[in-house]
Amino acid sequence: MELVEPGILRAGTGEGFVGETVVEQRRLRGVSGVQSIKVVSGMPATRFGHVVAHEMGHGWLTRCPGDRSLTTEEGICELIGSWWLRHRGGRLAAYYLEQMWQNPDPVYGDGYRSVCRKLGSLSPGEVVRRVETTGRL
Ligand SMILES: [Zn+2]
Repeated sequence: MELVEPGILRAGTGEGFVGETVVEQRRLRGVSGVQSIKVVSGMPATRFGHVVAHEMGHGWLTRCPGDRSLTTEEGICELIGSWWLRHRGGRLAAYYLEQMWQNPDPVYGDGYRSVCRKLGSLSPGEVVRRVETTGRL
């Protein structure tokens, strides 16, 4: 994981250019892993932790079975980010949680709401076990 200056992450990640996970694909054996995780410096600790949790979700998902749509992948990672925010607590965390829930983005916002509808009643441990064993929600 690398801390980077604002403005150098590639455009179009849809995450406000504050975090990026580059996944390594090795086609021969179908094995993939994380090449790098970059997070922008200078954010409040609550937002920083949220972005790190989201990006680590992408890293974790490279080790989970199954193919997921971009919307489902980002939704799962937003859910993981929401776990951090709920654990962190406080007014800023509540603000970011509300922003995620109201996000009009068809990938991040719709993905998060869809994943919450499917998995919202499960504990983080139950979600992890389900995705690791089935690859599905
Ligand atoms: Zn993401």
